[in-house]
Parts: sequence; structure tokens; C-alpha cells
Amino acid sequence: MKAFVVNLFPSFFVKFFARAYVAGVGIECGIKKARDLWEKQKIASTIDMLGEEVKNLEEVDKIVHIYLTLIEKLRTESFPKHISLKPTSLGIDIDKEICFSNLEKILKLTVEENITVTLDMEDSTYTDATLELYKSLRPKYEFGTVLQSRLFRTKDDILGLAGFNARVRMCIGVYNEDKSIAYTKKSEMKKKIVEYTGMLLEHQHKVDVATHDHKCIVNALKQVEERGLGKEAVEFQFLLGVPRQRIQSELINRGYTVRLYVPFTIEWKCAIAYLRRRLIENPSMVYLGGLDFLGRILQPLTAKRKKSILPPKQEPTSSISS
Ligand SMILES: Cc1cc2nc3c(=O)[nH]c(=O)nc-3n(C[C@H](O)[C@H](O)[C@H](O)COP(=O)(O)OP(=O)(O)OC[C@H]3O[C@@H](n4cnc5c(N)ncnc54)[C@H](O)[C@@H]3O)c2cc1C
Repeated sequence: MKAFVVNLFPSFFVKFFARAYVAGVGIECGIKKARDLWEKQKIASTIDMLGEEVKNLEEVDKIVHIYLTLIEKLRTESFPKHISLKPTSLGIDIDKEICFSNLEKILKLTVEENITVTLDMEDSTYTDATLELYKSLRPKYEFGTVLQSRLFRTKDDILGLAGFNARVRMCIGVYNEDKSIAYTKKSEMKKKIVEYTGMLLEHQHKVDVATHDHKCIVNALKQVEERGLGKEAVEFQFLLGVPRQRIQSELINRGYTVRLYVPFTIEWKCAIAYLRRRLIENPSMVYLGGLDFLGRILQPLTAKRKKSILPPKQEPTSSISS
């Protein structure tokens, strides 16, 4: 979508649609949402700060400080604690060494506080630097990263993780990429999520399957059950605000971890600017937001359906069980 069209959307309009996807303003809103999800539905979360593009080290320091405060505030909470962060927020664009030491500072503290971390993946210009960062710190700290099934390079990236005993969030990737480096059809990207889930499991990595697509979730689940792997080999992740209550509660009843991405913002103006940028990069979000809006209205009706929407548990297939 053209930038000038997106910038014509009034802020109150963007905020109205964004509310469902954002926990609120301030660290406490993120923590409260995560606590409520766990206490009321046994849904785990990963808390993330939505930020504007960082332009200098002062802004990076501010974000690192917010994350350190978040970790501090999580100390007294008893729900499963998990945070996600973006390499650009830690300064990867400005100075790679500073980014490395910011991430290490955060990882050190999260180990002490028993908090799990995932290093998000941004557009393809950051893939190499993000994986480099991950591989250099993974031997010292247990944390995860993200791979995007739309990129042609992902198969090689999985092979490159051999021996790292990684945890990988597998998603299609939210950034539109050039057709010379990425699949352009969603159906292909989703097929690849399932294929790469199997490949990661074969290589003894843990997989966080991050998609809202029913068929894709069912097929990824099959990859785990066919191998006779334990429930800890995989978890299923969703964005806050995308209406998938039914499948989430069935996955939980089946013994799997379901985790929602819970972003908070420091100021609505930052969240609105961030969402405008995402809309310019990926105009299909307008359509997806519309679908979600309808889904949230219809969710109480579908929740009443008695018939399971997941297939029965798959017996392990001897040829691929480990
Ligand atoms: C927990 C989690 C973490 C993620 N982390 C990253 C990351 O680090 N890097 C990255 O590039 N991508 C990340 N993503 C985004 C992901 O790559 C996809 O863009 C997103 O999940 C949509 O893909 P889908 O497989 O759900 O399929 P789609 O066909 O795109 O979506 C299926 C349905 O989900 C809903 N939906 C999907 N996306 C949105 C949206 N943005 N807003 C509102 N509704 C939506 C709609 O109802 C849609 O019909 C993450 C996603 C999740 C769930």
C-alpha cells in the first residue's frame, strides 16, 4: 500500500483496530495481559515491546532499559515467563558489538530470573546478522530465534543450526520480500512451515509453530505425533487478538503449550507509527484485520461447537519415530 494512503488513515482509526492486538500502554499492561491469559485459560505468552524504528544509541539504551525493567518486574510473577525482542531495538543497525552486549546483558538477567527469550526475525536484510548473533550467544545461553518459511534460504539456515540444539519459531514471515529470494504464494509458505517443522524435529531442535492457519497447525502436529515425540518438542504460537480460541483450547487439552505474542507499547503514538509501517510493507494486513474483526464477533458461536476441530491423536509411524 502506498505510504501516503496509509498516512491518510486517521490515528484514532488505526488505534481502534490495533487495540485487539496490543495489550496496552506500559509494561504493567503487558504483564497483566500475560498473567490473565495464564490464570484464566492456561495460555502462555511472550511479552514484547512495540517500538518505533531506533535511530541512535540513546534510543537503543532506552529500549534496553525498558526490557531490563520488564525483567525486574516479572520477578514476582508466577506464570511461565517469556519475552521476545528485535535485533534492531538492540542496535544491530548501529553497532553490532553493542547489539551483542545488549543482548548478552538481557540474557544474563533472564537466566537468573528464569525467563525464556526469543530473538525475533526482521526482514531479510537482517537474517544473516540475526543468525550470527544467535549462534554466537546460544552456546552460553538457552534461548530461541525465528526462521521464516517464505525465504528460499531457510532450508540452509536450518542446516546451519546443526549442533546448536536450537529452539526455532517457525513462521511464514510478516515482511514482504522480493520474488528473487522468497515464495510469493501463501500456500507455498505454509507447506514449507510443515516441511521445516519436520526437518527441525529431525535435527533435534525444538519448534515453536507460529501460524493461525488450521491446516498448517494440524499438519505440523502430525509431524510431532508421527515421530512419537514428547509434548515439549513443540509449542503453538499465535498473535494476541487473532481469534483462535477453539483450536488453542483443544491444543492445551491435548497437552501442548499454547503461547500468545503479547505486545505492549510505551506510547500509542509509537504503536500507531509501527502499525502504519507494517501496513505500508504488507497491505494484506488490512484484509487480515477485517477477517479477525469478524472472527472475534463469531467466536462465541464457534466455541459452542461440540465436535473437535483437531483430528484424533496420530500413532507414531515406525519409519520416522526416533
Ligand atoms: C507468536 C508469533 C510470533 C511471530 N514472530 C515473527 C517474527 O519474529 N518475524 C516475522 O517475520 N513474523 C513473525 N510472525 C508473523 C508471521 O510470520 C505471520 O506473518 C503471521 O503469523 C501470519 O501468518 P499465518 O501463518 O498465520 O497465515 P495468514 O494466512 O497470513 O493468516 C491466517 C489468519 O491469521 C490472521 N492474521 C494473520 N496475521 C495477522 C496480522 N498481522 N494481523 C491480524 N491478523 C492476522 C488472519 O485472520 C488470517 O486470516 C509471528 C507470528 C506469531 C503468531
